[in-house]
Amino acid sequence: MAQVTLNKVIKRYPVGDVLAVDHLDLQIADGEFLVLLGPSGCGKTTTLRMIAGLEDITGGDIHIGERRVNDLPPGDRDIAFVFQFYALYPHLNVRDNITFPLRAQQTPKEEVEKRLQQVAKQLRIEHILNKRPGRLPGGEQQRVALGRAIIRRPQVFLMDEPLTNLDAALRADMRVELKHLQQELGTTMVYVTHDQTEAMSMSHRIAVMHVGVLQQVATPLDIYNYPATLFVGTFIGSPPMNTLKCKVQQNKLIGIDTAFQLPLSTLPAELIAKASTQTLVFGVRSENIHLQPGVNAGDLQGGILVREPLGDETLYQVQIDDYLLTVKTPPQQVFYPGDAVSLTFDRDRIHLFDAESGRSLRVTQGGAHV
Ligand code: ATP
Repeated sequence: MAQVTLNKVIKRYPVGDVLAVDHLDLQIADGEFLVLLGPSGCGKTTTLRMIAGLEDITGGDIHIGERRVNDLPPGDRDIAFVFQFYALYPHLNVRDNITFPLRAQQTPKEEVEKRLQQVAKQLRIEHILNKRPGRLPGGEQQRVALGRAIIRRPQVFLMDEPLTNLDAALRADMRVELKHLQQELGTTMVYVTHDQTEAMSMSHRIAVMHVGVLQQVATPLDIYNYPATLFVGTFIGSPPMNTLKCKVQQNKLIGIDTAFQLPLSTLPAELIAKASTQTLVFGVRSENIHLQPGVNAGDLQGGILVREPLGDETLYQVQIDDYLLTVKTPPQQVFYPGDAVSLTFDRDRIHLFDAESGRSLRVTQGGAHV
């Protein structure tokens, strides 16, 4: 096991002159499960491939443990890579697929068999060892691919969207299994996904990337509760965070494109102190707005436009003057289109971002600004 350190790592592809990864600093602790999260094209796969040695780096340093690995070929880095596509050998049975890396290293037969049995038990695939992978369902094929990675006992696992090809129910099962497996093995894991549920549910920490730039690295709950940038705030969470462009005028937040108005005294003190003349983006998650019947209370008043009952919760689109806010309520709280409502914000869950830089004005907790 080992820590992985990226120091000002840059990747520029000459074709199209793409800066895929821009001065990335990241320390992944020994035994940590770190997820690289971001939309398509943000540079997460490139980052993983640079750690693996499958991609040259344009600048900076990568260390695995104490070793600087910039110039080491993938085979000498003591890592195991699991892809979205299982890349199993179709002509070999499961047993031979899993043990392939050990046999290639001429590991003694008894040791190979011992480790095979251990891995097969961990992954619950003892019953398919003699089958060819092509005939197996996707979940079992993915377990075989995992088996081939873990049997080597590498210092670091690198996984690139390994669950993408599975159907939703199986993906949910495999999330739990992978998390459990990583807890059991304690091996450092760097895991790429664009799926926020995977990132939130599995990782110790999430590193969110956007157009090659690291936005924030923090625990899932810090990322959710204290997003360091507007991008992180709106990328994580469903439905997305409500946002409104505004500026400060006469002790109020005043909407720029809307009739939004909120007294500054509604905001937490730390935000009031930092809001000055810049253009801001006000942000609040749907579950941090509370509805009451009638228009005589709350921070804002409006009317229900649309009700979306989801079973465990209900979403409301609430019209306030010329803008909408999405509000999430428990299912017991029922309103109908046309009902007049008052909206109250959870004070300490209001966010303000600088509209130009996208940075939060809040001092983030746990996950530092980058
Ligand atoms: P995805 O989830 O779609 O794979 P990603 O976040 O993993 O996205 P990368 O694959 O790392 O993103 O790509 C980052 C940027 O680098 C993109 O703009 C992509 O088009 C570009 N890129 C990736 N590989 C190459 C290449 N071999 N040559 C030129 N540009 C590339």
